[in-house]
Amino acid sequence: MKIQLAESYGFCFGVKRAIKIAEENKNSATYGPLIHNANEIDRLKNDFNVALSENINTFKAGDIAVIRTHGIPKQELSLLKSRAVNVVDATCPYVTKPQQICEEMSAQGYDIVIFGDEAHPEIKGVKSYADEHVFVVNSGDEVDLLRLREKVAVVAQTTRKIEEYQEIVGKLMATHKEVRVFNTICNATFDNQDAVRKLSQEADVMIIIGGKNSSNTKQLHSIAKDYCTDSYHIESQDDLQESWFKDKNFCGISAGASTPDWIIDDVIKRIQAISNS
Ligand code: SF4
Repeated sequence: MKIQLAESYGFCFGVKRAIKIAEENKNSATYGPLIHNANEIDRLKNDFNVALSENINTFKAGDIAVIRTHGIPKQELSLLKSRAVNVVDATCPYVTKPQQICEEMSAQGYDIVIFGDEAHPEIKGVKSYADEHVFVVNSGDEVDLLRLREKVAVVAQTTRKIEEYQEIVGKLMATHKEVRVFNTICNATFDNQDAVRKLSQEADVMIIIGGKNSSNTKQLHSIAKDYCTDSYHIESQDDLQESWFKDKNFCGISAGASTPDWIIDDVIKRIQAISNS
C-alpha cells in the first residue's frame, strides 16, 4: 500500500510559537490546555514543569500564567492581571485579530456575528471582546433566526471551512445594507485543508491525526470524508484498526495544527507495519 502525507499538515505557526513560549517559561502553568493535544501537554509538564490549571483561582500573585493559543475571555485576563499574576500571552496572533475586530466594531456600533462553535474556548474569548450585541452562529440556518440592527460586522472562527463562511456572509449580505466582512480564517488552516482536499481525492483510505477536541482536525476529517468515505480521525497509533487497510492501495495522511511530528511518525510506522503484515 502506498502511504503519502498531505503537502501541508501538522503544527502551525501559532502552535509552534505557543510551545516555544511555554518552554521558555519553566515552572509555570497554562490557564486551560495550551493546545488541543494531551500528549504534547504531558511532554511540557515532564520536560519543562509547565503545569495545566483549569481553575483561574489557582493563580496567585507572582505565579506565571501562560495564556493558551485559543485565548481567554477579556474579563479573565483582567482578573489575572488585577491579582498581580505574571501573564505570558501565547494567544495566537490569528486569534488576537478577531478579538480586536470585535472590540473595535462593537465600539463603532456594529452588531457582531461570529461564525463558530459557541462552546469552543476561542469563540468564548473572541465573543467577550464585543458588547452585548453579539451573536454566535454555527450554520447558515442559524443566520435566518437572527434579528440584527442595520450595521453588521462578521468574523469566523480561525479553523472553519471557507465554503460555509461564504454561505453565512451571503445570507447577511442579502438582508443587510452594511456588512463588514473580515476573513479571520487562518492561512495554516487554508493550507492544511487544501492539501487534504487534494489528497483525499486520490487516496482510498485517509487517516487524520489530532486531538478529539481539536476543531481544525475535525474540519480536516470532514473535508477528507467529502471525498474519501473511508476517512478516520485518530489521536495516536493506538486508535488504528487493521481492518481499515484491508484491500486498500493508497493511504493518505494528514494531521491537525496541534499534532507533533513524533505522533505522526509513530502512526506512519504502525501503518507501514500493518501494510507489510
Ligand atoms: S491553526 Fe491558525 S489560528 Fe490556530 S493556532 Fe494555528 S496559526 Fe493560530
